[in-house]
Amino acid sequence: MTTYQIVDHAYDVVVVGAGGSGLRAALGCAQAGLKTACVTKVFPTRSHTVAAQGGIAASLGNMGEDDWRWHMFDTVKGSDWLGDQDAIEYMCREAPKAVYELEHWGVPFSRTEEGKIYQRAFGGMTKDFGKGGPVQRTCAAADRTGHAMLHTLYGQSVKHSTDFFIEYFALDLIMEGGACRGVTAWKLDDGTIHRFRAKLVILATGGYGRAYFSATSAHTCTGDGNAMVLRAGLALQDMEFVQFHPTGIYGVGTLITEGARGEGGYLTNSEGERFMERYAPSVKDLAPRDMVSRAMTVEIREGRGVGPNKDHIFLHLDHLDPKILHERLPGISESAKIFAGVDLTKAPIPVLPTVHYNMGGIPTNYHGEVLTRDGDNSSKVVPGLMAVGEAACVSVHGANRLGSNSLIDLVVFGRAAGLRAADVVERGAIPEVAPASTEGHLDRLDRLRHANGSTPTAELRLRMQKAMQKDAAVYRTGETLREGIQAVRAVRAASDDIKTTDRTMIWNTDLVETLEYMNLIDQALVTIEGAENRKESRGAHAREDFPDRDDKNWMKHTLAWCDDKGKVTLGERPVHDFTLTDAVEPFPPMARKY
Ligand code: FAD
Repeated sequence: MTTYQIVDHAYDVVVVGAGGSGLRAALGCAQAGLKTACVTKVFPTRSHTVAAQGGIAASLGNMGEDDWRWHMFDTVKGSDWLGDQDAIEYMCREAPKAVYELEHWGVPFSRTEEGKIYQRAFGGMTKDFGKGGPVQRTCAAADRTGHAMLHTLYGQSVKHSTDFFIEYFALDLIMEGGACRGVTAWKLDDGTIHRFRAKLVILATGGYGRAYFSATSAHTCTGDGNAMVLRAGLALQDMEFVQFHPTGIYGVGTLITEGARGEGGYLTNSEGERFMERYAPSVKDLAPRDMVSRAMTVEIREGRGVGPNKDHIFLHLDHLDPKILHERLPGISESAKIFAGVDLTKAPIPVLPTVHYNMGGIPTNYHGEVLTRDGDNSSKVVPGLMAVGEAACVSVHGANRLGSNSLIDLVVFGRAAGLRAADVVERGAIPEVAPASTEGHLDRLDRLRHANGSTPTAELRLRMQKAMQKDAAVYRTGETLREGIQAVRAVRAASDDIKTTDRTMIWNTDLVETLEYMNLIDQALVTIEGAENRKESRGAHAREDFPDRDDKNWMKHTLAWCDDKGKVTLGERPVHDFTLTDAVEPFPPMARKY
């Protein structure tokens, strides 16, 4: 057993994660006068938000008429009626305020001729409750919007007194009597263990795209907060809904933003046909991502893919003015050159649907408070625990997120969490925690550090990623999902025999990879078991054996628990079909056509 030096800290609020959502939440808590720490495994401006390209949705109306109720309608429809309408109303109503706040803090948005924030078209964003065609609602800083936001938010967080703990890997939640009392973390550069006592922990740890083989997400997107929640005996929600982005660069998965189609780009098959005209006649290439990904998959399956193996699709931007490409899409011009060897002013980019976003995550209300199920099946708040950003499932994205609705989710609900924290966190002494509450965390770390089985972490991870890619894909059937469950369960079982290399060193990257892999495998299990269980097609969950949406039996959220042996238990929670104010009526379910 390794002897660890344990360092104690006491804070009103500890935010785990320094991406867009974590920084916005930390900023709000610090502004409210709460003693706030932000713990992050990577340097804040390397958080995955930095990669966000196309923009952030808000109905500013700078490029023509717009209305937050139209944005709300589009989001409810985009979610295929699985999103909670109270939370969606809150997000769309608060969105303009949150964007102006970013502008005033210094985000260098692109500008219109009159100096207003530039907005571009994005998939599924329409005028007049879907009746008026595409609307330009996505506020952009060229194609580097996340980069601009993250740097601005980090600067503001430093200006307000947030204490940063950078390159600290959070291990587990300190839970006592059903309440969260803090979090433990491993300091990567010296191996010390840090125990953060806190009145409130806010998880902002991002998505778990790396459960799949080909993803637009960074290597760090391992959903660590989600896994901590599972280990605390709490449920995750709607994990079967995984978004495939239509335009990952073929072979590498690097993202070409939907903003490229927003600026006039279009997709073609091997016959040179703009096939989206057949699948979504009104919005065509600007249909939501689930629909475009399915259409591309059908084109390829029916033999109309491009390339020697007819296994991908072309994205054209070569008809656009090079000046526009240079001004508005400089980042993707560079990506196309580096990763596909294509000069996009002259040739199309080879693309393929690639895992991009997790609609599921930690269930919360619209204040960011984490929900659990009470004895009588109703939802109740877990004291001392909140979640925001891609880690959370508020749920505003339901079964399918609209492009540019994640960045707005980060700042609207990051802000909401700060406002709620100001109300609910009692001022005064920070309670002690019993040593027994953290012993399990250290035992687990030690076991994984010294794990000397026969299968290296990287091999198990690859088996998991390949199984998820093959069996929990754009299209699913009961058969492929059952095969996938067997494959992922077998990998989970083989993890008892895991081998962490370089076990003698206090600091080693393989232990980080082992911890991340162990976090991923339980999320892979709840994802694929939830997918097998849901016998309908809704949003990103497309079952070939159940091709229709079934509102009577399935308009409900999935809850999933996973015990320490990898046994998954599934439950459910009703969708919120009510609004918060009289300003808008809930939108009843209808066929989702574009
Ligand atoms: P992240 O930015 O992923 O941050 C997670 C944080 O958690 C990091 O600071 C990390 O260090 C920390 N962390 C994680 N685990 C631990 C741990 N164990 N211990 C300590 N710290 C930990 N959305 C849009 O709306 N518009 C776009 O244009 C857009 N473009 C995108 C482009 C790409 C390539 C991708 C992949 C996504 C894009 N998205 C976009 C989605 C959006 O960027 C993400 O959903 C969002 O940035 C996630 O932010 P976050 O704050 O939840 O998490």
